[in-house]
Amino acid sequence: MSTPLVPLRRRGVRMRSEQDPGPPVPVSRRAYIETYGCQMNIGDSEIMAGALADRGYVNVDDPAQADLIVVNTCAIRDHAEQRVLGRIGQLQHLRRERPDIVLAVTGCMAQRLGPDLLERSTGVDIVAGPDSYRNLGEVVDRIRGGAVARGQLLLELDDDENYDGVSSIRRTGVSAWITVQRGCDHRCTFCIVPYVRGPEKNRSPESVLAEVRSAVDSGFPEVTLLGQTVNSYHHGTTDFAELLRQVARVEGVQRVRFTSPHPNDVSDRLLDTMAAEPAVCPQLHLPVQSGSNRMLKRMVRRYTREEFLEIVDRVRSRIPGVALSTDVIVGFPGETEQDFEQTAGLMRRVRFDDAFLYRFSPREGTPATRLPAAEFVDQKTSGRRLSELITLHREIQREIHERELGGITEVLVEHSARTEGDMLGRTATNKVVVFPGEESWVGSFRRVRLVSTTGATLIGELVQ
Ligand code: SF4
Repeated sequence: MSTPLVPLRRRGVRMRSEQDPGPPVPVSRRAYIETYGCQMNIGDSEIMAGALADRGYVNVDDPAQADLIVVNTCAIRDHAEQRVLGRIGQLQHLRRERPDIVLAVTGCMAQRLGPDLLERSTGVDIVAGPDSYRNLGEVVDRIRGGAVARGQLLLELDDDENYDGVSSIRRTGVSAWITVQRGCDHRCTFCIVPYVRGPEKNRSPESVLAEVRSAVDSGFPEVTLLGQTVNSYHHGTTDFAELLRQVARVEGVQRVRFTSPHPNDVSDRLLDTMAAEPAVCPQLHLPVQSGSNRMLKRMVRRYTREEFLEIVDRVRSRIPGVALSTDVIVGFPGETEQDFEQTAGLMRRVRFDDAFLYRFSPREGTPATRLPAAEFVDQKTSGRRLSELITLHREIQREIHERELGGITEVLVEHSARTEGDMLGRTATNKVVVFPGEESWVGSFRRVRLVSTTGATLIGELVQ
């Protein structure tokens, strides 16, 4: 049976009790966290790891070694949810071997499905939404101590929960993901996020800056500020441009990125800050979703094609050399060939450096699912449009990258590449470069000459 989305707010169970410390603490506390979905979820997993560490849990890399297994999920597309359901099934053999293991499903899919998830997947012990991570460890301990039964729901959305005071534990990567904003006040008709993450809430600049300083002290050369519409951030008199400026000026910060902005909130103040602060990377993600005004209106994106193009021109005139990326949905209900051509035309006009292209995936409970069934685009047509757009984007991206060949750029080394003896890093414009190098270079900057491209990836050689 389907689960209505709005009442989730009311049926959450809060287990925290200041007076009652709960049952004696189990001795073995090893947590394994597996993350699906976007950067927000990676950031959330790190918050969860921090909250669990406060209760004595240590992270492990192998679910077979864990006392607590957390699957942190995404609900943005049906495909993502199906993968998670498959994974929950796979993990059941561990629960059969060690019945004391607690399996928690967290994140957007947990919030969306709520009790349905308990009914569908026998073997899930806790279903916890994005505002419940502070209490997760306590509930796990109560289950393990026998104080409460398995099958706990932690689904209360909390307008004040920003996880201030929880120190994220970052175990991978060279960029520290720092969530500055949670939730979203928009209602794009295809998007499940506002229903599973609630309204926008912003952290105080003091708390963000303290986390940035701590990340720098831990050795991170780069920080990425995260929010669902990160550039609508505001707290007291501080807007996003001001927050970005302050973060960029924290001693030791070498690169700052942010994602994901909303085109409507790209202010001149923000662009001036990006242009003026050397640490802010000349890179901007501008999710357009469609190039057709008819579709943009149906999606309730709140800008027109013309307004979007004006934003692009404004960005490029103020930040020379800026790299632009985007998200596009093809096959939104009612999309005609003319609408699709408008999107392809916009891609040709803007020539994005990178693009994340998707086929429309109806999410139960979102307004788009209530559009007339006859207007839904069939899979064959949407699949064809998607592959046409991918081909177009790849051609454009290859041309852009070919023009960059011969140039020398600074790359932050991230990890080993697939080819032995090669390392992978990113330019300030967020381009992936593969070049010969050593594992010990991870986290350091190297000067690289761009010598060839596979299309999506640049190939470099070290410049001494
Ligand atoms: S702005 Fe639109 S697409 Fe982005 S999270 Fe909010 S509702 Fe979803």
